[in-house]
Amino acid sequence: MSVPVGIDLGTTNSAVAYIDGDQPRIITDSSGQNTFPSVFAVTKDGSRLVGNLAKRQMIINPENTIYAVKRLIGRRFDSEEVQEAIKKLPYRIVRGPNDDVRIELPDKIYSIQEISAAILIYLKKIAEEALQTEVHEAVITVPAYFNDNQRQATKDAGIIAGLDVLRIINEPTAAALSFGLHKKTDRATIAVYDLGGGTFDISILEMRKGNFEVLSTAGDTYLGGEDFDRRLMEYMMEKFKKETGVDLSEDKMAMQRLKEAAEKAKCDLSFTSEIEIKLPFIAMGETEPLHLNLVITREIFEDLVAALVRTTIETCAQALELAGKKPSDIDEVLLVGGQTRSPIVQREVEKFFGRRPSKNVNPDEAVALGAAVQAHALTSGGEIFLYDITPFSLGIETAGGKFARIIERNSTVPVTKTRVFTTSENDQQAVKIRVYQGDKEIAEENVFLGEFVLSGIRPAPKGVPRIEVSFHIDSDGIVNVSAKDLDTGKEQSITITSSSGLTEAEVQEMAEEAKIYELELEV
Ligand code: AMP
Repeated sequence: MSVPVGIDLGTTNSAVAYIDGDQPRIITDSSGQNTFPSVFAVTKDGSRLVGNLAKRQMIINPENTIYAVKRLIGRRFDSEEVQEAIKKLPYRIVRGPNDDVRIELPDKIYSIQEISAAILIYLKKIAEEALQTEVHEAVITVPAYFNDNQRQATKDAGIIAGLDVLRIINEPTAAALSFGLHKKTDRATIAVYDLGGGTFDISILEMRKGNFEVLSTAGDTYLGGEDFDRRLMEYMMEKFKKETGVDLSEDKMAMQRLKEAAEKAKCDLSFTSEIEIKLPFIAMGETEPLHLNLVITREIFEDLVAALVRTTIETCAQALELAGKKPSDIDEVLLVGGQTRSPIVQREVEKFFGRRPSKNVNPDEAVALGAAVQAHALTSGGEIFLYDITPFSLGIETAGGKFARIIERNSTVPVTKTRVFTTSENDQQAVKIRVYQGDKEIAEENVFLGEFVLSGIRPAPKGVPRIEVSFHIDSDGIVNVSAKDLDTGKEQSITITSSSGLTEAEVQEMAEEAKIYELELEV
């Protein structure tokens, strides 16, 4: 016996769910915990830790404690996002042999997929313990804006973890499935507002007879609950400095205590209107130890974070515009992510959309629950079809290094689009078609996908030859680009398959190694 599961592989926390009878249910560990830190660490003595154990030793082992790998998965080492992450993250990010991203730890250099696999193995073990059965098949969720490489890399992480990855689905779609919207109504336009620990996403979906289509997505990969904590922390430090003259910002230990206290205060303020923070012996004064005692009201907290919430609402407006919708077109607003428990978030979302968000599903669990619904449907012959969109535009480089979009971002796949181009020089007999993915005006600033040459063009003044360029994306996200000389009928094409950054052989090798690791892992 093996039970299919749904996995929400999150930036800060992950969760796993299954179907019990006909109800999706979250899987808890023996202590009743329902989400688990997406953290991996190697200790000084070389042992590997995942989840709670890894998170707990983070302060004393910061350079060997790996978190937020979701920001790195499936990206090129030279990409802007990775270069940005290198500045922000305390661990050693290095260039991999395929220009991919790797992390150097005391025992070896890990691929990002292996670290994600360690988290998946941990979740699999928790599920196996709880359900007392084997777990092989899984649906794993990713943000709707993940590109093909990031999706492929997530799938490879699943393969390394020894899972049969039934499908990779979009997080907002999973959230909608967990709310059972496909059972309640035939047709609905849905906004999924997802504010987690480190990231914010808003997606507009359209559901018709159980088919979900993502109309648009927008978000901020560096805005989440941690920013709320930081605002509160800064306030606490400022108050303390005013009172005692002591600046706590250089004291790592004190900062960690402040951070924990801020997060706890924030969570409590979702349910009470005032809390008292007490941190005894937080610093040493000239003659005696100093204590931090502070009362924080919900009002103070809301003032501190109002600008953050406003930013998310502006992003909601962008997503609606991209989808060609107005707030009044939205039939359901779903809240996902732990940070949506703050009343200020719920209030502002309600104000913007003009309707009360649905709250019948736990925001930490919604994505995993929906993934479980999909896993069950795929293994039991149930039918839920999911359409996808291209998260970025696709196009080619034209004269002067400009980027010409051929398929616009947020197009539903499968899709085919064609445009006619010409030559830029007299008697030009060949053109090089360079294919990019992105939304920047300069081709080079986008992600390069591949190139090919169409030759044998009959000599003619520039601007005369007509070269038809076609892009086709199939339902698995595979891109085919062809160019045809309309004069001679000559044609050339290229198929671009996504790359996770690892070769198939590397994935196999890492999967073998992970099997040994799985036997050692304790949950
Ligand atoms: P997620 O990434 O979805 O697990 O969300 C984690 C974020 O939700 C963290 O920043 C938590 O501090 C925050 N969070 C969890 N519970 C609450 C709560 N009761 N009120 C406000 N924020 C919360």
